[in-house]
Amino acid sequence: MKTIPVFSSQDEIALLKPRLMDAMENVLLSGRFIMGEQVQLFEREMAAYLGMKHAIGLNSGTDALVIALKAAGIGPEDEVITTAFTFFATAEGIHQVGAIPVFIDIDADTYNLNPSLIESAITTRTKAILPVHLFGQAADMKPIMEIAQRYNLKVIEDVAQALGADYNDRMAGTLGDAGCYSFFPTKNLGAYGDAGLIATNDDALAETARMLRAHGSRKKYYNETFGYNSRLDEMQAAVLRVKLPHLGEWNEARGRISAKYNNALCDLPGITIPARQPLGTHVFHQYTIRVQNGWREAVMAQLKSRGIETMIYYPVPVHQLPVYQSRLHVNLPVSELAAKEVLSLPIWPLMTAEIQDKVIEAIREIIPTLV
Ligand SMILES: *Cc1c(COP(=O)(O)O)cnc(C)c1O
Repeated sequence: MKTIPVFSSQDEIALLKPRLMDAMENVLLSGRFIMGEQVQLFEREMAAYLGMKHAIGLNSGTDALVIALKAAGIGPEDEVITTAFTFFATAEGIHQVGAIPVFIDIDADTYNLNPSLIESAITTRTKAILPVHLFGQAADMKPIMEIAQRYNLKVIEDVAQALGADYNDRMAGTLGDAGCYSFFPTKNLGAYGDAGLIATNDDALAETARMLRAHGSRKKYYNETFGYNSRLDEMQAAVLRVKLPHLGEWNEARGRISAKYNNALCDLPGITIPARQPLGTHVFHQYTIRVQNGWREAVMAQLKSRGIETMIYYPVPVHQLPVYQSRLHVNLPVSELAAKEVLSLPIWPLMTAEIQDKVIEAIREIIPTLV
C-alpha cells in the first residue's frame, strides 16, 4: 500500500523536469551563484506579479520577517501585535529584532487575527501589527489598516502561506508597509531549498532591506551597519522563475480540490469545513477542517492506519510553546481550541482525483464509527 502524503512536489518536478534541469544547468555554467542575473530577473517578475515597486529576494521567509521589521524601524522594547495561531517563525522574527510579540486571539472561522481585539492591546510601546494570512487567505485587512493608520503603527504582513490570494482586489501582502513571503518547498510557490522575499512600495524600507541582506552594505566592503547574510541564491531564483508562471493555475487547482473536499465532507457530523473571508480569495495552502467532539486524534490515527497522512497546523499555539510557557500568562481560548481541533488533509495542485477520492472515502467511513 502506497502512503498518501499530506503534500508532494514529485508530480510537479516530473512535469517541469526538462526546464528545471536547463535552468539549473545554466546557473552552473554561468559560474555566478550569488546576486546574479536570475535573482534580478526573479525580483522583477515578482514585483510585476504582485504589482509592487520593490521585491527583495532573501534566503528565507523567516529572514524576510526579521529584515522587514528591522527595516521598518522596529527594535528593542517595541511591542508588535500578532497572532499565536501561526508557525513559530512569526514570533521568532519579532524576537530577533529585540521587540516583544503581544499575542491576541483569532477569528474562530478563518483562524486569522480578530481585528476587534487589536485596539485594547495597544499601549504606548506598540509600534506595529503583524497579521498572518494563515492557510491561504488574507486576514481582515480593512479594519487592521484603519487601526494602524489611526494609531500610526506599521503593518508587516506574514504572507508565507498566501502568495496569490486577493483581498479587496489587491494581492495579500501588498496592503501593509511590507509583505514577507516564503518559498519553503511546501509553500504554494516552493523552491527546492530555503528562499524568501520582501515586497514593498516604500523606497526607504526597500533600500534598508537590501542593505541588511548583504551585511549592512550598499557598496561591497563599505559596511554601514550590522546586517545579515541573507541573499536569495541563483539556483533557487532560477527554479522559482520556472515555477512562477504556473502559480495561478496551481492555486486554481488547489481551489478545485478544496471545493470537492467541501462538497464531500460538509454533511458529516463533527466536521467543519474551512470558512471564507468574505472580501478575499483563498489559495488553500492548507485544506484544514475542524474535527469536534474530541474525535481528531482517532480520525488521524485511523487515516494513518489506512496509509493517509494528515498534519496538525498547529498543535500548540505560540504563547504555550516551551519557549514562552513559564513567562507568558495570556489566555487565547479561540486559538487554544483551534489547536485541539484542526486537521489538515492532503492537498497539492497536481493531486489526482483518484488519490483525493481515497481520502474522502476513508473519512466518510471513519466518522460513522465514532458517532
Ligand atoms: C513558512 C512560514 C514562515 C517561515 O518561512 P521560512 O521560509 O520557512 O523561513 C513564516 N510564517 C509562516 C506563517 C509560515 O508558514
